[in-house]
Amino acid sequence: MRFDLLTIFPEFFTGPFEHGILRRAQQQGQIEIAVHDLRSFTFDKHHIVDDRPFGGGDGMVLKPEPLFRAVESLLAGSAPTDTAVEAKRTAIVLMSPQGRVFNQHEAQRLADECDRLILLCGRYEGVDERVVEHLVTDEISIGDYVLTGGEIPAMVVVDAVTRLLPHVLGSETSAVHDSFVAGLLDYPHYTRPAEFRGWQVPDVLIGGHHGEVAKWRRRAALLKTWQRRPELLDQAELTDQERRWLAEQASDTAQ
Ligand code: SAM
Repeated sequence: MRFDLLTIFPEFFTGPFEHGILRRAQQQGQIEIAVHDLRSFTFDKHHIVDDRPFGGGDGMVLKPEPLFRAVESLLAGSAPTDTAVEAKRTAIVLMSPQGRVFNQHEAQRLADECDRLILLCGRYEGVDERVVEHLVTDEISIGDYVLTGGEIPAMVVVDAVTRLLPHVLGSETSAVHDSFVAGLLDYPHYTRPAEFRGWQVPDVLIGGHHGEVAKWRRRAALLKTWQRRPELLDQAELTDQERRWLAEQASDTAQ
């Protein structure tokens, strides 16, 4: 997967991609990350990327020309697709609070469908609407709140998508039990010491019986999801027995 980040603050990305799994994925050639300064796609002396809004009002708006020029030049430099390999798409993604709210399912969709993400980071009041209408293929919001720019949202997307790409996570950190992957929150984790300030790790986890551990973890994940995010259970694949067990928990709690 290749990520191209378009921003007026390229220095913003110094650091976040240089650690842990993202660093290893780059070293192993599983991902490539390129940061581009939007100002280098301007032709005027002052490298102006923004202007006042038509119709008046506060703030500035990112102009369409540098964004179109930048994306078109990135696409022009793309290598031709190898037809023997299953064709994946390039998504041109605008980070925007007005976009589709990003979640694990959206991250998986991008990881499956795309081999390149061009992420446009807005600033100020946002971008000229013609960019939204005629340039971008996807608009992504990282939540119902407004940030000062699209750089942090773009980092979120790079991180969440990267860890879902094949072979990026070693078996020691597999994503299959992660929260949201199977529609549940993750089960609780414990490590040594077995007793800390009088708080004990559940006995079953120390007993070494893999079947019992798996059963405990499944039930703990179900319980946590039911307590914290019950709406997730509507979409989760549960057995009849699990649904009955949750109903019992609910009636026990109600008493
Ligand atoms: N006036 C815009 C609005 O109310 O929809 C907000 C603009 S915001 C101050 C500047 C930029 O930050 C946006 O263009 C976008 O790129 C980014 N941004 C802010 N909040 C975001 C969010 N929740 N998700 C994704 N991007 C966001």
